[in-house]
Amino acid sequence: MTDAPDFRLEQSELRADDEFTEFGSSDLEYYVDFRGTFHKVPLCPDDPSLQASGAEVAIVGAPLDDGTSGRPGARFGPMAIRSAPTAFGTLEAWSIQLDVEPFRLLNVVDAGDAPVVSSRHARGLRVIHEKVFRVARTGAIPIVLGGDHSITYPSAAAVARHASPKTVGVVHFDTHADTADSVGGSLISHGTPMRRLIDEGWVAGRNFVQVGLHGYWPEKETFEWMREQDLRWHTAVEIEERGAEAVISDAIAEALDGPDRIYLSVDIDVVDPGMAPGTGTPEPGGMLPRELLRAIRRIVGQVDLAGMDVVEVSPPYDQSEVTAMLAHRCVLEALSALAVKKGA
Ligand code: MN
Ligand code: MN
Repeated sequence: MTDAPDFRLEQSELRADDEFTEFGSSDLEYYVDFRGTFHKVPLCPDDPSLQASGAEVAIVGAPLDDGTSGRPGARFGPMAIRSAPTAFGTLEAWSIQLDVEPFRLLNVVDAGDAPVVSSRHARGLRVIHEKVFRVARTGAIPIVLGGDHSITYPSAAAVARHASPKTVGVVHFDTHADTADSVGGSLISHGTPMRRLIDEGWVAGRNFVQVGLHGYWPEKETFEWMREQDLRWHTAVEIEERGAEAVISDAIAEALDGPDRIYLSVDIDVVDPGMAPGTGTPEPGGMLPRELLRAIRRIVGQVDLAGMDVVEVSPPYDQSEVTAMLAHRCVLEALSALAVKKGA
């Protein structure tokens, strides 16, 4: 028997006195640990816990993709966005862009998912409406993780119901106008939510502002309907020609031409598929991520945000989780902008 050699692994790091309790669950970045709520904020899945939290913002999952016309998978969006590997997934996050610690200034919770089940699209939209409405009535700003874009119909309607109809303007980032009357006979496709919101009177057409439209859908007749409703839109070509900064200034003014609050809807396919491939209906020639993130910081920083959604992240089509990370960052930028306003 010889003496055991030095076990050098013992000298390879700075060790805490008690390495088992050195990091609590909330200190750990997302690595291989439990992936639960958005950014590890507290979970308040029911009315009493949400009420007791006094939350100013509540994340809501809307895991539904029965409205998808192309590639499915957006039902996995809330899970992927919540656990996106943006790293720095701790409550200590500090924004270089805005010089703010969003989770120190802002009371943010995760209200969990709307109770969606499979094969019942209309019911799914109804329970999303109820979930978002229950969040809004506590006074928290709902930030909804889709799901395909059909969820914006019940979600924005819930926010408008709480605020009172036609008092909330909408800024809608998308490749597609989503103003078709029907798609394949369905009135609740992901190509129709904006039509429903306007037709039913939740949002006034003149305060519905779309940014980033490009490609080949919807057809010309639908744009004529949009013109009749006084919708305003800014195409990707206009962003190329005038720059995103000028376009976003116009979009803010148009959405607030009457209303004093805004619902922000972000279809991740507004970003070029080279940088956001994990989505159902990609169209080449979209915005840059940094243009979109800057636009979100500006809009949320300047207006009174009534609600928000980020939709159409389809993890099965994603590459290296880049689309989920971008969607997560869209939410984080909104939270940071809200925190700046609160801290000011
Ligand atoms: Mn859309
Ligand atoms: Mn779209």
